[in-house]
Amino acid sequence: MHCISLVISGPAGVGKTTICDRLVREFEASLKRVITSTTRRPRNSEKHGIDYYFLSNQQFEDLKEKNSFIEHAKIHGNYYGTTKESVNEQLEKKFDVLLNIDVQGAAELKKLKQSNDLFTNFLYTIFIAPKSIDDLRKRLISRGQDSICEIEKRLQTAMNEISLKDRFDFVIYSDTKEIDYAKVREFYMSKSIISN
Ligand code: 5GP
Repeated sequence: MHCISLVISGPAGVGKTTICDRLVREFEASLKRVITSTTRRPRNSEKHGIDYYFLSNQQFEDLKEKNSFIEHAKIHGNYYGTTKESVNEQLEKKFDVLLNIDVQGAAELKKLKQSNDLFTNFLYTIFIAPKSIDDLRKRLISRGQDSICEIEKRLQTAMNEISLKDRFDFVIYSDTKEIDYAKVREFYMSKSIISN
């Protein structure tokens, strides 16, 4: 039996987190979200060890030195990374793993895939693209998390990310929440059935 690794990427505000939360809820017996590490501060109700491992710059650097990350990236001034340990912990228990990471991280993992590592043997990447930049702007504004200046920065990043979408195994053009979820769900089910 092979566990699969599913990577979901896409611009901030496109609905990745909602999709990921729903997918791990529906498939809780087989799929676990990998908790990644970041140096950014927790927002609102976010908790250490649940949403992220919130680390200091020094702690992050130490892990990097120890070669603990399978990938890491700097996003909007903060560091983000996936530790080998957090992935292996789930794979060893025979769970499929779900990673909500950015485009740079997804590209790093795809490179590992070519090296035939066990974790990446059954790695699939999904990119969720917004309907349009204008639509994404509206979503970011209605989310109410970021300042206008921050939103413009995120939209710039989004445009760069969208230009790399063809590197992904599967691209979803965002529609309604239900339709987006149904597409991700179907993709996951098809891959987990084929590879098992
Ligand atoms: P946020 O700060 O809004 O939670 O996340 C910002 C971006 O970082 C999102 O696109 C998210 O997918 C990405 N991200 C979260 N954890 C990681 C990680 O470990 N590695 C990489 N490359 N990106 C991550």
